[in-house]
Amino acid sequence: MKPNIKNIAVLTSGGDAPGMNACIRAVVRTGIYNGINMFGVLQGYQGLINNNIIPMDARSVSNIIHLGGTILKTARCLEFKTDEGMEIAYQNLKARDIDGLIVIGGDGTFTGARNFSNKYNIRVMGIPGTIDNDLYGSDFTLGYDTAINTVIEAIDKIRDTADSHDRLFFIEVMGRDSGCIALRSAVASGAEAVLLPERHTSIDELVSQLASGASTKKSSSIVIVSEGHKAGGAYDIAKQVKEQFNHYDTKVTILGHLQRGGSPSSFDRILGSRLGFAAVNEMLQGTSKAMVGLRGNEIKTTGIDEALSRHSFKLENDLLEMTKVLSI
Ligand code: ATP
Repeated sequence: MKPNIKNIAVLTSGGDAPGMNACIRAVVRTGIYNGINMFGVLQGYQGLINNNIIPMDARSVSNIIHLGGTILKTARCLEFKTDEGMEIAYQNLKARDIDGLIVIGGDGTFTGARNFSNKYNIRVMGIPGTIDNDLYGSDFTLGYDTAINTVIEAIDKIRDTADSHDRLFFIEVMGRDSGCIALRSAVASGAEAVLLPERHTSIDELVSQLASGASTKKSSSIVIVSEGHKAGGAYDIAKQVKEQFNHYDTKVTILGHLQRGGSPSSFDRILGSRLGFAAVNEMLQGTSKAMVGLRGNEIKTTGIDEALSRHSFKLENDLLEMTKVLSI
């Protein structure tokens, strides 16, 4: 039986990701289309606690589909992990008769939503929004496509200068626990080597790879370093390599937060629209404590418990092999 839902709130939480605005727009308009009163929560779970909850209509999401970031703002909120914080959040929702909460974020955000729903029996739906592409249940997370395209554009530019000066560049990209951006951007940019959080690469191994390129007259080399690589960040790795291999002038670039920004790609706009549309429709059908994700080219739901219990990004060994073979 369909539940009688009248009021739904949406929030973005954790790290921001391009495409979140397209998704908010889809959530708000799908809800309104179905006769639901829609609310936006500012600054993630912090906004639930601070009672920063605003009514939203179709016009409040006009002209945002192309914008990076999130109009609802996002935050990391430790207070929501406490019983007291959750109770305040619940009372604020109850005061507005809000029956359903749609959260856009990563696994921390989903953990919060699941715990909240377990405690107060409120309906929740999760939408995978993180540039890391590391959530089980969706082949792609919102923001990943834009982020990797930003990374590749930056690497291409660095390659121009690296080549002109016979330089070795170490480029650090985001991914504390997931090497997805690092590995795929390495293949897409033709990098000479990649260092990932999921795999130990010794300095000796890296040096021998770079030396072999230099011996066949490579005029520059690029090493992509994932920020979560266990042997250190790009500066540490560059220093260690330079001690053993001094063939090129060595430079380091940390791409940092520019990877999160920018106008979302068409892929992320469409993905955000599809996921937002599906999340509301699923909630109105009675689904709760689930996330919507893209699998194949279909939108599918996965229980949040299942999504959280499985690790998502599986290192693609063929891509790893390719970074060696195709950069000889
Ligand atoms: P990203 O992948 O971009 O880091 P995320 O959603 O994983 O996104 P987190 O900072 O881990 O980002 O989590 C976002 C928020 O979710 C936290 O700041 C906190 O408010 C809430 N949260 C995380 N874990 C819990 C928990 N165990 N109980 C309640 N709330 C939680």
